[in-house]
Amino acid sequence: MNELPPCPQCKSTYTYQMDEILACPECGNEWNVEESSSASEGFVVKDSNGQILQNGDSVVTIKNLPVKGTSQSIKAGTKVRNIRLVDSDHNIDCKIDGFGAMALKSEFVKKA
Ligand SMILES: [Zn+2]
Repeated sequence: MNELPPCPQCKSTYTYQMDEILACPECGNEWNVEESSSASEGFVVKDSNGQILQNGDSVVTIKNLPVKGTSQSIKAGTKVRNIRLVDSDHNIDCKIDGFGAMALKSEFVKKA
């Protein structure tokens, strides 16, 4: 994973993760993964129904989603556990059985 948020204290991007804790080697700051997602408030990720999603939520895909680089697609109705929210176009990082690490768009999922 190289999509960790920058340090809230010194803005260093060399943050690293230890279980539920994020740490910054530059200033020694340590903070909770959950806290950083709610504290930053920089972005909100909503599912197809407008429900706000949070890190660790489970979602279900609502349509077949093609997977880049393969001829396979993720079928509608696939359950995705333990999502991680990212501030980007594909705003959900997750792992899907049989596919591995994926980035999804929140508009194509709903909260499980
Ligand atoms: Zn720092």
